[in-house]
Amino acid sequence: MSTETIAAIATGMTNSGIGIVRISGKESFQIIDRIYRSKKSTKKLSEAASHTVHYGYICDGDQVIDEVMVLILKYPNTYTMEDTVEIDCHGGTLVLRRVLETVLKYGARPAEPGEFTKRAFLNGRIDLSQAESVIDVINAQNDFALESSLNQLQGSVRKKMKQIRSKILHEIAFIESALDDPEHISIDGYGERLMNLLEPLSMEIKDLILFSENGELLKEGINTVIIGKPNVGKSSLMNALTGKERAIVTEIAGTTRDILEEQINLNGITLNVVDTAGIHDTQDQVERIGVEKARESLTKADLVIYVADSSIPLDENDTKILHLLKEKKTVVLLNKSDLPQMISEKEIYKIMDEKAKNIPIISVSAKEGTGVKELEETIKELFFHGKISYNNEIFITNIRQKAALQQALDSLMMVKKSIEDQMPEDFFSIDLVNACESLGKITGDSVGEDLVNEIFSKFCMGK
Ligand code: GDP
Ligand code: ZN
Repeated sequence: MSTETIAAIATGMTNSGIGIVRISGKESFQIIDRIYRSKKSTKKLSEAASHTVHYGYICDGDQVIDEVMVLILKYPNTYTMEDTVEIDCHGGTLVLRRVLETVLKYGARPAEPGEFTKRAFLNGRIDLSQAESVIDVINAQNDFALESSLNQLQGSVRKKMKQIRSKILHEIAFIESALDDPEHISIDGYGERLMNLLEPLSMEIKDLILFSENGELLKEGINTVIIGKPNVGKSSLMNALTGKERAIVTEIAGTTRDILEEQINLNGITLNVVDTAGIHDTQDQVERIGVEKARESLTKADLVIYVADSSIPLDENDTKILHLLKEKKTVVLLNKSDLPQMISEKEIYKIMDEKAKNIPIISVSAKEGTGVKELEETIKELFFHGKISYNNEIFITNIRQKAALQQALDSLMMVKKSIEDQMPEDFFSIDLVNACESLGKITGDSVGEDLVNEIFSKFCMGK
């Protein structure tokens, strides 16, 4: 393990009120002694108590670099589990860089991106799932992403993986000892016992994978297509949904002007409305892009919202589009509910395909803003069976971790198959061992140095 002392600017690289230079490693306190001066005292900071703050100056010989507050943090109660110094400087980029340069001149070397967190991992304070959640906490774009990353940072995934792994390890140990000592340990009927254990275990992993898909949707947003004839109120609806304080509107320019995306934030659920250019087009969407294209964009979306104007009777264009709606995750909105109604739900169900008869139909008025709450509830129901809890479920939204879960599940399925095929018991242990290894990839118990380096290289400087 590296014992070099590292340093980096831990705050952003734009001018701000304060900036922090962080130092970690064995020589942290010697380095700060070389460059710190106080007006009042000549006491060395290396002799200060842990978790204390000291006011003074960073100096390079006689030259004062900045007026600072220095935090002394002693092993082991620190982020890296090493002696750590944090220098609170003025937040200008130039002055921050000078302080860092001074620290480097007097004995530290520049930290690589993520190296502080990597040390926390290598020193055993956190596991790999927690280290990865640090990036997610920093990058979180909405409440859900933040909550679930914080949850993981606190060790929820680590704990769960340990639980599952220890059950599997127990079985491996049993098989090994039974095969070693057949006279004393009977393995008769073991296949059936193992099968009974595999059922709930694989269910647990399956649930985690399922949650992870929900988690991904919550984190990344639900890709949504809004479709309907001209003048039914698509734009008004977009405005009603994004216009209020709760909306975040971002325009992401794509390769053509047609590919625009706007985000609608419905109480924690983010809808990424794709092709908003299509929404604003005065021409009929299906006419404009053709039935095939329309069908394609509908199947690609996670969610399709079909808007109809309920104040005028349905016509053949509605029929054409309604026939395209087959997917489960579709909502029909009958807009302009504030006007006299010319369309009924019954009529719509009659037109739709047999497969589409479960599609929810909601009356809304973009003008008066009614029906939005119901739309929210309906989407929650469609995607998350109505319940989104941030705290009780573990959401594994990291792709690497999810792949490892799937591998573990595959290995358990192989064990099941070996039992069913009445293979000898050592076949069971091969796949049980594989399952354990896969779960170990999530916590970092069974990963190589290359992967560890790759993961931490994605971190920002100073973290
Ligand atoms: P789009 O072509 O589907 O985007 O439709 P627009 O949003 O441009 O709306 C077409 C017309 O319908 C406009 O005059 C809107 O003011 C009107 N409109 C939209 N929603 C409602 C509604 O809920 N009630 C009423 N009365 N008029 C609406
Ligand atoms: Zn419009």
